[in-house]
Amino acid sequence: MKKIDIAIIGAGSGGLSARREVAKKTNDYLVINSGPLGTTCARVGCMPSKVLIQVANDFHRRESFVEEGILGGEKLGLDGIAIMKHVRKLRDRFVRGVTEDMTSWSGTNLLQKKAKFIDKNTLDCEGEIIQANKIIIATGSSPSVPDSLLEFKDFLITTDQIFELETLPKSLAVIGLGVIGLELGQAMHRLGVDVMGIGRRRVIAGISDPEISEYTLKKFSEEMNLSFTGIQSVERVGSKLLIKTGDKEILVEKVLVTSGRTPNWKSLELDKLGLELDENKRPVYCRKTFKLNGHDHLYVAGDITGEKPILHEASDEGKIAGFNAVNGRTEFQTRTELNITFTDPNIADVGKRYHELVESGVSFETGKVSFEGQGRSIVKLKEKGLLHVYGEKSSGLLLGAEMFGPDAEHLGHLLSWAISQKMTVNQTLALPFYHPVIEEGLRTALRDLRSKVDEEIPPLEIYKI
Ligand SMILES: Cc1cc2nc3c(=O)[nH]c(=O)nc-3n(C[C@H](O)[C@H](O)[C@H](O)COP(=O)(O)OP(=O)(O)OC[C@H]3O[C@@H](n4cnc5c(N)ncnc54)[C@H](O)[C@@H]3O)c2cc1C
Repeated sequence: MKKIDIAIIGAGSGGLSARREVAKKTNDYLVINSGPLGTTCARVGCMPSKVLIQVANDFHRRESFVEEGILGGEKLGLDGIAIMKHVRKLRDRFVRGVTEDMTSWSGTNLLQKKAKFIDKNTLDCEGEIIQANKIIIATGSSPSVPDSLLEFKDFLITTDQIFELETLPKSLAVIGLGVIGLELGQAMHRLGVDVMGIGRRRVIAGISDPEISEYTLKKFSEEMNLSFTGIQSVERVGSKLLIKTGDKEILVEKVLVTSGRTPNWKSLELDKLGLELDENKRPVYCRKTFKLNGHDHLYVAGDITGEKPILHEASDEGKIAGFNAVNGRTEFQTRTELNITFTDPNIADVGKRYHELVESGVSFETGKVSFEGQGRSIVKLKEKGLLHVYGEKSSGLLLGAEMFGPDAEHLGHLLSWAISQKMTVNQTLALPFYHPVIEEGLRTALRDLRSKVDEEIPPLEIYKI
């Protein structure tokens, strides 16, 4: 049996950022990781998906060439094999970046084995027994596949396999229209794949503002084949799969399952520890310390929590768990909420979402802008989108925003920074806006909000000396 101070299970983004904090204080730690190194983000997540999306959008751009007087766009074509090679080439570069970063410590502090708990301080790592004073659990999540589809296994792919495809499929059903399904579904559609996106409800990418939701659904449905009635039947037809929903059907070569991700608790065999569980049977933890309830020496970080399965949250959670594992218990704030869906146009939400504000009962107003008719959006031929910014009625304090529109990835950042600084709508309007930029659309929404809240309207948007 090997005795160490701190064990970190999982060398993903959460585990690696926990390690960074731990290593500032002690070398008496071990990172235990099963599966390939390089993180979900770089191997099969954020990064390869963004490469595929980039290629798809670059190709899609040709559709506006004729209008701009650029000829010959219709002659452009795609080499599916080269596209997938390009995705993997950049993917490998990102993975290399992660693994090269690990070389200074992996020789001594990394164990490439699967860990499971024997008792609250002891891990069985495929026969190697490790006893640790503190344990950080950062085992991530895995794509979940509904049982009803398992008999069609030979057709199914998840995000763990999609980037390994030799070439683009000719036809593809995308099951689940959350962030990942919508991003990859639109990219595949723009790359000429015959795609049908299938959801169970008329909601995509988690948008909660009813007006933005309806608008976004309409715009996506104009561009691509979507069905919101769920799968009614699946049947093999020759070498393909016939999928029928409540209102449509499609014959496909492959099915991309993006119907959710399951936190990787099971393999840890935590049941022996008598942990407090929530209604989803997941261990309860504190979001300020990332300590498991009732167990001062156990911490969690990243997708394993099942709460905010995004990269910067996994990384922050790892930092907090790692810091607390070596420095004692300190409570940390979480950053202002920021979620981005890298479709074109982007979808983003920041701060409080519409439904959270409604449920909280706070009195708020909504400032609105449509990007149809917005100057720079017209220039870019990206005249599509809606942005709603929410402010407290009595004070004009910015509370949150939901949006679907050009460059929403950037507008979302600006708004999340203003919300983090607890700025009011007047204070935000006093900041500079260049011309002509997409941000002028945001200013329109802020001005609309200002006209609806009780914050006193200054004579000018510019501060007096
Ligand atoms: C297709 C896709 C696109 C995405 N796009 C974005 C995006 O654009 N922006 C964004 O912010 N987020 C995005 N995400 C989410 C983001 O990638 C994750 O939130 C993040 O990678 C989670 O990091 P993690 O450390 O929790 O898990 P991981 O990186 O998965 O690390 C967990 C590690 O633990 C190991 N492990 C599991 N069980 C055990 C065990 N019992 N013993 C030892 N080791 C174990 C695993 O093998 C793995 O190496 C995307 C995800 C996907 C799938």
